[in-house]
Amino acid sequence: MARINSNYLKLPGSYLFAEMKRKTDAYKAAHPEADIIRLGIGDVTRPLVPAVIDAMHRAVGEMGSAETFRGYGPEQGYDFLIEAIIANEYAPLGVEVAADEVFVSDGSKCDVGNIQEIFSSDARVAIGDPVYPVYLDSNVMAGRSGGFGPSGRFAGITYLTGTEESGFAPAFPREPVDLIYLCSPNNPTGTVLPREELARWVAYAKEHEAVILYDSAYSAYIREAGVVRSIYEIPGAREVAIEFKSFSKTAGFTGVRCAFTVVPKELKRRDDRGVPQSVNALWLRRQCTKFNGVSYIVQRGAEAVYTPGGMRQTREVIDYYMENAAIIRDGLEAAGYRVFGGKNAPYIWWKLPAGLDSMSFADKLLNTCQVVGTPGVGFGPGGEGYFRLTAFGDRNRTREAVERIRNANLG
Ligand code: PLP
Repeated sequence: MARINSNYLKLPGSYLFAEMKRKTDAYKAAHPEADIIRLGIGDVTRPLVPAVIDAMHRAVGEMGSAETFRGYGPEQGYDFLIEAIIANEYAPLGVEVAADEVFVSDGSKCDVGNIQEIFSSDARVAIGDPVYPVYLDSNVMAGRSGGFGPSGRFAGITYLTGTEESGFAPAFPREPVDLIYLCSPNNPTGTVLPREELARWVAYAKEHEAVILYDSAYSAYIREAGVVRSIYEIPGAREVAIEFKSFSKTAGFTGVRCAFTVVPKELKRRDDRGVPQSVNALWLRRQCTKFNGVSYIVQRGAEAVYTPGGMRQTREVIDYYMENAAIIRDGLEAAGYRVFGGKNAPYIWWKLPAGLDSMSFADKLLNTCQVVGTPGVGFGPGGEGYFRLTAFGDRNRTREAVERIRNANLG
C-alpha cells in the first residue's frame, strides 16, 4: 500500500493567497463596476526587451536547421551563458567564480526549494522571517519540522525574525543551526542586508559548519552604492555559502524561466562518517539526475541580457519599476505612513496603523480604495502588522492607487 508523505499535510496550504484571491473575486462580483488596482502581484508586467527577443528568434532559427539544431544541452548550462554570467555578474565585483561552480536552471524557486535535498534530513533549519515562503515549505515537505502551531510557526524550525529596529535584518539564532536561508534584497520587506551583517553570518556559518543559502533574486534592483550584490564579496563566503540569482525579475523571465545557482568548490560539509564532501559535486550529481537543462533558446535569450543593448534595455525596465516604487514610497510617506524598502527592491513594506492585523487591513484597503496588496503575515509571523505593495504594476495605475490611498482614511 502506497502511503503519502504526511509532511505535506503539515502545510496549512497557500491559505492566505487563496483567501486574498477569494476576497477580491467576491468583491468584484458584488461590485462589478469597481475599478480594482492590483499592487499585490509579485510578477513582472513589462514585455521582454528587444535584445532578448532578437536572440531568441535567432536561436529558434538555428533549431530549424539540421546543422545548427541542438538537442539535450549540458545539465549545468551552455558555456556561452555561464561565461556571460561570470563576466557580468561577478567579475565587475572583483569576485572570482569558476565555470563549473555555476549551475544554470529554470528558476530560483526550484533551486531554493531543491537545494535542501543534498543536506541531511535532520539538518536544523533557520529561516528569515518575514521571507519568501518557499524555503520554509520545502523543508516542511522534507520532514525537517514538527507541526504548524497556533502561533503561526512550525515546531522545529528556527525563525530569524527581523524587526523594524534592526532594519528587518534576520536575528541571530540562540540555538545552533545548520542551514540558514537569507534573502537580500528581501521579499517582502524590500530591505537589504548590510555588509557587516553578512560578514557576521559568514563568521557564524564558519564557526558552526553551517551553510548559508543566499537568495539574491532581486540584486539587479540594488540602487544604493556599497550595497552587497553577491555574498561572495564577503571574505570567507566561498567556504560557507550557496548563492541563487534569477533572470525572472532582472529581465522579465518569469514566464521564460532561467536562473542560476553558484556552489563554490571550497564549500565542503561532512557526511555521516565525518568525512568532508564537496557540496558542488553533490549538487552536480543531483542536477544531472533530476534536471535536463534549460532550453537552448532560453539560454540564448538570457545571454543577450548581458549584451550592451540588453543591459541598457533591461536597465530601462528596472528603472520603470523603481520609479513606481518611488511613487508608492513617497506617496505613502506624504500620507503619514511609515514605509520600508522600495530603494533597492521592487517591494514596499508598509507599516500598518496600530491595532490592525494585516488580513483585516487587506479587506479595508479593498473596500475603501479598491486596491489589492499582500498581507504581511503571508510571509511569516514576523510579517504581521505590515503589508506588501509591489512596484511591478503599470505607472498610471500605480499613481492612481497611491492617490486613492492618500485620500482615504485607513486607520
Ligand atoms: N526568490 C525570491 C526571493 C523570489 O521572490 C522569487 C519570486 O518571486 C523567486 C526566488 C523565484 O524566482 P524564479 O522565477 O527564478 O523561480
